[in-house]
Amino acid sequence: MRDSSRNLTERLINPMLSGSDKTLPLPKQSLISLLQKLAELGFTGARLPTDSGGSGISMLEYGIGFEQIPPVIALALMAHEGSTARLYADGNSEQRKRFLPDFVSGKRVFCTGSTEPDTGSDPRGVRTQLYFKDGKLVLDGRKMWISNVTVCDAILVTCLDRRNDKDGQRVVKVVVERDHSPFHSASIDTIGYRQGWFGEAVFDSCQVFPENVIESDRGGTAVLKSSWSVNRPLFSLSAVHLAQNAYNLAVEYACIRKQFGQPIASRQLVQKELSDIAIAIATSRLLCYQALSAIDDGTGTEGNSAMAKRYTQNACREAIWKSMNLFGAMGLSVEAKIEGWFRDVNMIAVGDGTNEILSLIHGREITGFEAFRGPVGSDRSLH
Ligand SMILES: Cc1cc2nc3c(=O)[nH]c(=O)nc-3n(C[C@H](O)[C@H](O)[C@H](O)COP(=O)(O)OP(=O)(O)OC[C@H]3O[C@@H](n4cnc5c(N)ncnc54)[C@H](O)[C@@H]3O)c2cc1C
Repeated sequence: MRDSSRNLTERLINPMLSGSDKTLPLPKQSLISLLQKLAELGFTGARLPTDSGGSGISMLEYGIGFEQIPPVIALALMAHEGSTARLYADGNSEQRKRFLPDFVSGKRVFCTGSTEPDTGSDPRGVRTQLYFKDGKLVLDGRKMWISNVTVCDAILVTCLDRRNDKDGQRVVKVVVERDHSPFHSASIDTIGYRQGWFGEAVFDSCQVFPENVIESDRGGTAVLKSSWSVNRPLFSLSAVHLAQNAYNLAVEYACIRKQFGQPIASRQLVQKELSDIAIAIATSRLLCYQALSAIDDGTGTEGNSAMAKRYTQNACREAIWKSMNLFGAMGLSVEAKIEGWFRDVNMIAVGDGTNEILSLIHGREITGFEAFRGPVGSDRSLH
């Protein structure tokens, strides 16, 4: 799995990324062609059972392959494949039959829109609503910070179900297909992952098919949660990828860069720094593999995955920073590449759970107390 994925990266993905403008999203066609190649490795259907088009690989195997993929493409894959898994988990048999084949084969691009301008860490606060207007089912609202949104063919939107109750608070999901239900989307320029397809979507009385509403007993947020437990260690393996790249270059550089008449690698302080970086990477990788392996054997928990992500993204961010420092001024140059990896790793700190939220998820599991919400009335904006 590791070799196949690395081979695809070296043969196809890296040349595609390095041959394009580093500051602009790649064309949609590039993503489609990559998803189709990733489908051959079984990654686009990694979480589906084989009788529904899944590849039958374990989450650990998926993670090992995922780690090799350049992070900007890995995020697009995770958004696409994770959305497909959510649709499988909650969709009815007709919806699965209609949508899954094109998503698993990589023919159409998929994503999930949960976050909104005023709703991030607390998914229960969504305001986008689904309701009937002049006898037609429409969606109104705005989604932000959505991976793949600028190039997707369909988006799984989390919204309030107001079909029968205009004040309804039940959360449902609906598949919005761009061809039939056009909506506006735009890129958001960010610190890292600049060749990716990150952005916002606006639904303005956007008419949707009633048969695309996902009516699940588990509720909209429950499904998101189950996919987060896989997403968190996966996404973190992109931080491991970046830190490993930075470390490899730092070792090479430290052995050839001479100061005070000797390679800097011969100094004890530099060796300790390299040792610390290597430990951070190895520990991070193992925590992520452990979280994925626990999901495979049925012992995985939300806290375990949250722990892996919080540790990894902090440790790998620091590892990249330390590697950059070993290059002196050269580390700050675009030419040395590490500054780009340092910008990219910051993207991993927020998506699929910020550090604080991950601590609270882990802390809830350790103690049994939920510490997300303060007492009613503590919101200062109310006064
Ligand atoms: C690379 C990337 C990809 C993403 N992809 C998607 C996607 O495909 N689909 C999608 O729907 N969303 C996506 N997101 C959005 C992401 O899920 C949200 O940004 C994230 O959940 C945090 O929400 P927020 O940005 O609104 O921050 P907020 O929730 O507003 O948090 C702001 C700060 O407050 C802290 N905070 C919040 N609540 C508490 C609390 N109870 N206690 C202590 N501190 C707290 C947070 O930790 C953070 O530091 C993506 C984001 C990134 C960066």
